[in-house]
Amino acid sequence: MLNTITLVWVYDREMSSSEWSLDVARELWGLNHSIRGDTITVDDEGYLAISIGGSSVRIKDVMEKYGFDVAYIRVLPLIGKAMRLVYETFTELARIHGFKGGLQPVFPMKVNPIDIVIDAIWRYGEKYGWGFNTGSIGELELLSKYAGKGPRILVYDGVLSDNVARILEGFREKGWRVVVDVESEHDLDILSKHPELEVGLRIKPLFKPGGKWAHSAGLEGKFGLTVNTLVKLREEYKWIEERARLLHVHAGSQIYKWSDVEAFINEVYNIYVQLTANGFSRLELVDPGGGLAYPYLDTRSGSIESPDYTVVDYFNHMLRVFSRLDKHPVLVYEGGRYIVAAHRIVVAKVVDVRPYSAEQLSSTGTSVVEDVLRGVRTIRDLKAVLKEYRRLIHRGSQGQQYTLEERELAEDLVSKIREEVVLKLSELLRAEPSSVDEVINDPFLYKLATSPSKRYILNLSIFADIPDSVLVNQYFQVAPVQRLNEKPDVVAVLGDLTCDSMGEIGEYVSHVRMHVKADDWFTRMDLRLVMAPYKRLKLGGVPLHLPVKGENYYVAILDTGAYQDPLTMKHNLIYGAPEIIMDEVDGEPKIEVVERNGKYL
Ligand SMILES: *Cc1c(COP(=O)(O)O)cnc(C)c1O
Repeated sequence: MLNTITLVWVYDREMSSSEWSLDVARELWGLNHSIRGDTITVDDEGYLAISIGGSSVRIKDVMEKYGFDVAYIRVLPLIGKAMRLVYETFTELARIHGFKGGLQPVFPMKVNPIDIVIDAIWRYGEKYGWGFNTGSIGELELLSKYAGKGPRILVYDGVLSDNVARILEGFREKGWRVVVDVESEHDLDILSKHPELEVGLRIKPLFKPGGKWAHSAGLEGKFGLTVNTLVKLREEYKWIEERARLLHVHAGSQIYKWSDVEAFINEVYNIYVQLTANGFSRLELVDPGGGLAYPYLDTRSGSIESPDYTVVDYFNHMLRVFSRLDKHPVLVYEGGRYIVAAHRIVVAKVVDVRPYSAEQLSSTGTSVVEDVLRGVRTIRDLKAVLKEYRRLIHRGSQGQQYTLEERELAEDLVSKIREEVVLKLSELLRAEPSSVDEVINDPFLYKLATSPSKRYILNLSIFADIPDSVLVNQYFQVAPVQRLNEKPDVVAVLGDLTCDSMGEIGEYVSHVRMHVKADDWFTRMDLRLVMAPYKRLKLGGVPLHLPVKGENYYVAILDTGAYQDPLTMKHNLIYGAPEIIMDEVDGEPKIEVVERNGKYL
């Protein structure tokens, strides 16, 4: 049997060609996608390419043309695409349900307030009358540039002050419809002095969905009034019944479970029915906030990166519920993540390849581990052997005494067990693919089989370029920009340039929903298990190719358009990547480059 060290040497690209196909590649690297799928594609030669206005550009070519080792590629038509999906889905379903209230979309500026994005929202949103949701003076000032360009709707839901109220008055005077949320008595005092501003009731939902932003909802959440408080405040501020036009409830971002979405929409409906029947009869806009989950991986598995429902389910339920009413309200769509996530791709070059853990070479030719594993015929045998070995290793870590021979064996085990067992596992699974469940259901084997063998250093800073990866452990889909027509070689953790151990991507979700021969389930060089048809696997790193000498090997981190731009951190003063902005003008692709004088490598 070859050990892995030898394997590296005998490895040859031609020799190991298999029936790898682009269809498998698209599944493994998450490129079958309802929003970006037609735009970010794999071309016939295995390059990741962007299609705009009937032309297709390869990401690798663009990076090399401008000589960038790191860049953000912004594909602005993807913003337009998401807006169209929302608008057309709603319109079609409204027709089917006989819903007459209409849709009022608004973009929550906190999701991405940079000029380029706001400008795209403005332009692509023109035909839908897309408005804005803002929560700070800074956002209002940015939006002021557009105040004179034609009226849109503005929902303000930040902390209120006289200053803020005056700016909002300015928008109203230019013809905008301005609705200001009330969250407390403080807000009511300020709004008493600005009688022309329409009022929104920001209500706390009882329901708390799952996910990272569950604390946004529930009665102890930061935002909004309880219905109880509202009813009490109404006694003193009688005008609120007259001025309240909007019911505003937000349950947090990225609600990935359909049952949670349903329960939340039902609650919003209930609050609306109760409030309109109890004095707030002039409420005409219902805003169930954001929360429509973005499919970072579009396989509907019902996990945080892969919601188990779509925009169709979302509006279908909402419209079914609200069309029960005699008088239909206008429904507000206030999602931002779904609209802008797809438009920004971070592309970075692999600048170094390192072993993931210390590689120890034993002095003897074959290791003890190898000899023992030779006799193993089934996954069950393998588990029994591993149990013995772990007991031996465990003894040492408990501080018990070893003989010199035992210590040598233990060291040999620690350094070799991973590679040897992984090799054995791939042999056993190839021979008996149906035993893959035995591996997946055994935490130790699963971890070994999907563990990284390399650490790739990328010319980027996670803190600057995809901060949510460290802040909230956000999953971002990663794909190579080249060689997608080849099987991946290794599973690699992606390290950044900062001195911070948190600057790494070490988790990857593989969910391949097609039949693939067991021969192709493994990486070519380190023999990691990177897929099992129809199963969702969590890998300890990204399946990638080993860059060959002299090759500019780039990695793309997809769907980084929501929340990342404004949260950028300046760790180690590494930030400021150049941007390649792609748009479609009169059916033609247009590419513009913006240098930001970043200091990377
Ligand atoms: C953050 C926020 C949104 C955006 O939600 P996403 O699901 O992330 O798009 C919408 N409305 C309000 C009130 C928010 O605070």
